[in-house]
Amino acid sequence: MPITFMDIKMEIKIDKVIRTKRKTIALQITDDATLIVRAPLEVSEQTIRNVVIKHKDWIEKKKENIIARDPKFVKKEFVNGEGFLYLGRYYKLSIVDKQNTPLLFNNNCFSLLRDYLPVARDLFINWYKERAYEKISERVEWYAKKRGFVYNKINITDANKRWGSCSIKGNLNFSWRLIMAPLPIIDYVVVHELFHLEEKNHTKFFWSKVKMLLPDYKKCKDWLEKNGYLLRL
Ligand SMILES: [Zn+2]
Repeated sequence: MPITFMDIKMEIKIDKVIRTKRKTIALQITDDATLIVRAPLEVSEQTIRNVVIKHKDWIEKKKENIIARDPKFVKKEFVNGEGFLYLGRYYKLSIVDKQNTPLLFNNNCFSLLRDYLPVARDLFINWYKERAYEKISERVEWYAKKRGFVYNKINITDANKRWGSCSIKGNLNFSWRLIMAPLPIIDYVVVHELFHLEEKNHTKFFWSKVKMLLPDYKKCKDWLEKNGYLLRL
């Protein structure tokens, strides 16, 4: 029996379609098990669905592999008892019926007002962004004073894998997701970007400077490569 488009719509969710001037359709499963379809500008939705149906098995297998790789990684559902990372530790979430703000963190757990469940993800992201800005600014300031770096300003980004970057104007950009990581990891990204103010490329000289300030930087770099995918909602 042929599979109808409705069935597929229920079974496989296309998380994002990116249309560009490319010639072919490509499927991508990202580290957080989302499905991205890259398609030419003029191709129809139906054609895209057909390609997804054709590769259904491949998509499912890839998604399963990602989730099986680490049981800690499951896309957040915002339910009672679910753990949320903050500075390298998991804190449990409770859904409550009464409290003064939609989302609260009391150094022990998160609590979220039930009425705000539909916007839970946005609330968490805003909370993380604020904490990221505070903590990262504090660390940048500390290392800047210690080593005499001169930077322009700090921006917090939504980047998934680009943990930090440094612009020609001396602006330092950091992904809010970093605030989920342990402090030494944040420090590593901060120091890394600060040295880019002096050295644009990842030369031996660049790494030797990083090492001087953070002798254990390699451990942090490896940690990010291995665990970076956990730093998301
Ligand atoms: Zn770099």
